[in-house]
Amino acid sequence: MANFDDKQGRDTRLVAAGRREEWTGAVVNPPVWRGSTHLYRDTAALRQGTKTNEDGRFFYGRRGSPTQWALCDALTKLEPDAYGTVLYPSGVAALSGSLMAVLKPGDVLLVTDNAYEPTRLMATGLFRKLGIETRFFDPLDVDGFRDQFCDRTKAVMLESPGSLTMEVCDVPALAAIAREMGATSLIDNTYATSLGFPAIKHGCDISIMSLTKHVGGHSDLMMGSASAANRHYRLLRQTAQTLGHVVSPDDAALALRGLRTMGLRLDRTTQTAREVASWLAARPEVAHVLCPLLEGCAGHELWSRDFTGGCGLFSFVLKGADEESRARLIDALQLFGIGYSWGGFESLALPFDPAPIRTATPWPPGNWQAEDRYGVRLAIGLEDEQDLVRDLEQGFAAMEQT
Ligand SMILES: *Cc1c(COP(=O)(O)O)cnc(C)c1O
Repeated sequence: MANFDDKQGRDTRLVAAGRREEWTGAVVNPPVWRGSTHLYRDTAALRQGTKTNEDGRFFYGRRGSPTQWALCDALTKLEPDAYGTVLYPSGVAALSGSLMAVLKPGDVLLVTDNAYEPTRLMATGLFRKLGIETRFFDPLDVDGFRDQFCDRTKAVMLESPGSLTMEVCDVPALAAIAREMGATSLIDNTYATSLGFPAIKHGCDISIMSLTKHVGGHSDLMMGSASAANRHYRLLRQTAQTLGHVVSPDDAALALRGLRTMGLRLDRTTQTAREVASWLAARPEVAHVLCPLLEGCAGHELWSRDFTGGCGLFSFVLKGADEESRARLIDALQLFGIGYSWGGFESLALPFDPAPIRTATPWPPGNWQAEDRYGVRLAIGLEDEQDLVRDLEQGFAAMEQT
């Protein structure tokens, strides 16, 4: 049976995590346990089960089976200082479920201005309707951060690097200020995962991931997770039960399968991303490369200080282009698919322009040429680097043709 030990290396831990003998039996990867009803031996056992409603014990399908428990256990073990993990049917559900767990009407939520767009829309739409006020803040302004708080501020939502514009913020500093001000800090940790950025160790209260991305890794499942130390875990679990969040055992098994190779995939895509990004930085069509992995790029110093790993996601901004020329570039790509998401084995390209949605910080940033604003986000997959570069090269050639 796999023995999990905190002192083991990253990939050894990925192999062992969640494989408890009482759940897995003799097979290697936790099997799929389908079931809604769990039968009790007698009414006394039923009464006892309802009363304790413990993790890792049969109760009812909505509380999961050994397949989901194994995934929760694995994710908890991989997030240092976490006590437990709650699974959600998507990353967005993990974000909304976590925020619902810590906020109530009348509270103020601070959200980083580089947040994933559905996070913004959740805050300004659903949460406003529920009487929760949201204020957006500049993630790079640590000194001004304290001034954002009022006595109703109860939670702070971070995301680093921002998943489109790639700003790296000083998470330990911001999380420490949030704690001092009595607010819960949550981080969307999808980019680096707990392997590259142990968020709770860095001071965050709740570490959220879209498992759809790196954990799934094969673009064939949707899932999210939130991990926390005991106090916040209790809140998350209770709220998820109230809201009826549950994931299928089939998807949990796929996520467990993806998890075993996640370290290798992250290493490979990080390495390719670094090479492709540095190739792009030398191209005349490119004004800015937004890739904290790369020395000289914004955020690299903080990234080097706080992160132990990256991934294949980064962006670049075209020099004086327009929407049509950017479309010619993206449409000409043969190996990069056009689509949302990332963390899969195939590379993707996505046009973006955050100007209309930002409220606390300007886009393009004030120190850029105003005409350099059309962005492309690349999610680097497992293809060979030279093929991706050749594909981008012919994309740039197509961009220049009018
Ligand atoms: C994709 C994504 C999410 C949402 O995840 P889903 O599983 O697609 O709901 C949340 N945050 C970030 C940064 C993402 O990229």
